[in-house]
Amino acid sequence: MSVDLHTHTTFSDGTLTPEQLIEKADYQRLTAVAITDHDEIGALKYLNTLNSDKNVIVVNGAEFSIDVDLKGNAHLHMLGLFLDIENDELNNVLIKLKNARRERAYTIIQKLKEQGIPITKQEIDDVIGLGSAGRPHIARLLIQKKIVSNVWEAFSKYLSKGKPAYVSKQKLPLKDAIKLIHDAHGLAILAHPISLKHRRYKDTDVFLRELKYIGLDGVEAYYATHSPKFTKFLKESAARYSLLVSGGSDFHGKVKPDTELGIGKGNLDVPDDIYFSLKEAAQHK
Ligand code: AMP
Ligand code: ZN
Ligand code: FE
Ligand code: FE
Repeated sequence: MSVDLHTHTTFSDGTLTPEQLIEKADYQRLTAVAITDHDEIGALKYLNTLNSDKNVIVVNGAEFSIDVDLKGNAHLHMLGLFLDIENDELNNVLIKLKNARRERAYTIIQKLKEQGIPITKQEIDDVIGLGSAGRPHIARLLIQKKIVSNVWEAFSKYLSKGKPAYVSKQKLPLKDAIKLIHDAHGLAILAHPISLKHRRYKDTDVFLRELKYIGLDGVEAYYATHSPKFTKFLKESAARYSLLVSGGSDFHGKVKPDTELGIGKGNLDVPDDIYFSLKEAAQHK
């Protein structure tokens, strides 16, 4: 029996609605699934308005982009898990981030216009819907308009850092994100450490120790693109610094067609125990 504690819905840049995601998780007999949209908890609020007959446990989460100085396209994402989604400060910060994301999308289409690619604000608003805007939304429009043939091409030609339509996004300082998550009674979990692009495991180990010191609760050791060796190393490192262990696929539906819910690239398997240990820890927050 397994869980998936990192997924996205249509409330950010995933392509399944919250109901579709829950239905799929239930069908795959996952014990628990965390919805962790980028800067967004709308999917969780929406699910609370429904009467679900599904067995799968839904964990309230969100994924924050952190403002740290890293080399090249390395990046730091922080997951908040077991969040109190009614927390005022959390809601205030998310509204600001969400507005900034939409403004960023408008700036991106301005830049695309300079490249001779017309996309209207209305088209952006329609593809984003109620949720938070991300570059994959723009990629989808570029595919629809047959300007590129897939998401990868959209990023490598236009949207990635260094490309003509790149616009940076508003990010939270590390300590602010951890405090925000803790004030909302959640656990701060370092997402996909692979994206830190450290050259050596030792660098990641040192980094985890430093993050623990400023309040990190856990690390996403199990992840779709982590090798078994890297996962093993992260679990050992987590044990060394009394960090919790989490795991998830980062499922986005059709945006990442090669990443499947629960199983990632095919061999991800996050045991139920991971969920129960996190839940237990969250009860003390
Ligand atoms: P944003 O939050 O707008 O910066 O967009 C980040 C999202 O874009 C990530 O969650 C990924 O799903 C996706 N993404 C980033 N880089 C790429 C890439 N090179 N190819 C495909 N998807 C990407
Ligand atoms: Zn995403
Ligand atoms: Fe991420
Ligand atoms: Fe993610």
